[in-house]
Amino acid sequence: MLRVSKVPRPCSWGLEGFKKLNSKVISELPTHELLQKLGYIKQPNAGLVHWLPLGLSVLRSIENIIHKRMREIDGIEVSLSTLSNSDVWKKTGRWNNNELFKLKDSKQNDYCLVPTCEEEITAIINNQINSYKNLPLMVYQITRKYRDEKRPRAGLLRGREFIMKDAYSFHKDEEDALFFFEKVNEAYKKIFSDLKIPFTSAKADSGDIGGNLSLEWHYIHNTGEDTLLVCDECNTVSNVEVALSFPQEDTKLADEAKVKYYLTKDNNTLVCLYYPAGRTLVPNFVSEQVPDVDFTKTNEDEIISKFLEDEESFLTKQIVRVMDCRLHDRSNFPDMKVPYHRGSFSTLTDIPLVEAQEGEICGKCENGTLKAHKSIEVGHTFYLGDRYSKSMNAQFIDEDGISKKFLMGCYGIGVSRLIAAIAEVTRDEIGLNWPAVIAPYHITVIHAPGERINQFDLIFQELKNQGFKIEEDVRDLTNISVGKKLKESKMLGIPLQIIVGKLFPKIEIEVRGKRYITKELEIEKLFKEKEKQYQWEIIKDINNKDCPEKHIVHIDGLVDVIKSLLKDL
Ligand SMILES: [Zn+2]
Repeated sequence: MLRVSKVPRPCSWGLEGFKKLNSKVISELPTHELLQKLGYIKQPNAGLVHWLPLGLSVLRSIENIIHKRMREIDGIEVSLSTLSNSDVWKKTGRWNNNELFKLKDSKQNDYCLVPTCEEEITAIINNQINSYKNLPLMVYQITRKYRDEKRPRAGLLRGREFIMKDAYSFHKDEEDALFFFEKVNEAYKKIFSDLKIPFTSAKADSGDIGGNLSLEWHYIHNTGEDTLLVCDECNTVSNVEVALSFPQEDTKLADEAKVKYYLTKDNNTLVCLYYPAGRTLVPNFVSEQVPDVDFTKTNEDEIISKFLEDEESFLTKQIVRVMDCRLHDRSNFPDMKVPYHRGSFSTLTDIPLVEAQEGEICGKCENGTLKAHKSIEVGHTFYLGDRYSKSMNAQFIDEDGISKKFLMGCYGIGVSRLIAAIAEVTRDEIGLNWPAVIAPYHITVIHAPGERINQFDLIFQELKNQGFKIEEDVRDLTNISVGKKLKESKMLGIPLQIIVGKLFPKIEIEVRGKRYITKELEIEKLFKEKEKQYQWEIIKDINNKDCPEKHIVHIDGLVDVIKSLLKDL
């Protein structure tokens, strides 16, 4: 029987590197290089990625999961232009972002390659939607995005071109927007649960996007670039940029203090933030004690001269000194740059002002201890409020006939980044190890040379008819050993390997895929029920890295066993 491959094996792409891979080489290879060696992607330059058939298959599977979960919450798919005129970006003040990929047309008009589409989508919705009756509304797309990454690295994790799912929702009031924010977070939980790998969501700073409520979605992993802090008492997970913390009681307090000055928006209050030298100040942390601080002005000389400029008005001026909780009376404070008599003067003490560190006390429950974990961020959900509708004057008519600004949310998943992150957290020295739901193939079917070739073809066809994705090898198989084929299949990260050979009518199933759940496994339920009928034997050896789990089962039970194995992987 001639088998024509629909998705060629990497070797048929002439990737010689595949042949030279062994566990020592693999264990030393960064994941983005492993993905290239195995023929999933090709990187022509730093930060750029070509998707080859295997990688594209993984990408499409993830996209399908995302489409399904977005449709469930009534997301409407759109696909916006990759090029965007500078006009809308200037309105929202985002044109100055130095990571924006900018270009000019032949008439010297400015454009960018979009990194996200808040501006363009707000313009569209403002044009299309006039009435509260059409709200709420969420549109989404899965498209290529761009960022002029100065130091692109690690292939899909931080590229100049990347694939992103971005969604934008529009609401008539804050209550509806916040309700919907939670609804999207529930959909995100489902997406990440579908992918089987343990994930976490963390409270986060919303950075450049704006707004004041956001959640980040992460995989905890020691190669990650982000740091999450987890409280061992209240279990709050926070990005380091938002985690409030206090020093442990027996900690030596800081001797050297530094200061950073800010002004309130009315320029009447000088806010002096004192914090320990060597720690990272998070100016936002003072917002609760001193509202209306203008964090956009950071030049110290300008701030001081602005505060002092109106000689006569010092009666209305105030100076607020805010002391981080790690400082004490005898800490060495820098000189005050403004004469105290130039305003009424007050001091706030014991305020957490710097990035939390592992081992400090949780600022939320004020009881537990914070533990730091490295992580890889793969998604982000934001409540934006009127950040974009205000600057772009995007309005609708509400129930009372009054024009109001839309309230918005935006919700991203870095799809190409997600693939890189999954590859990173699941790989080992054997190779990649995809969750079954996104693996390019569910099964590699291998027949021992010379053994029962007719049954092999029948089994192959039956499994195909059952809808399993089966790896089809286009090579002349007669000279390739079972061991070599097993190794290659496991290296590619295919969850199951099936050997039709000398045990026929019994079939061997080797399990490469990893289980992240341990309770109520489908395979255990089926085993209890069908062990005798399928003449079923399970061999487990966790010390055997090449084959920690093998099933030997009668051909009558093969389809059943494969189905339940895949459900858990
Ligand atoms: Zn806590």
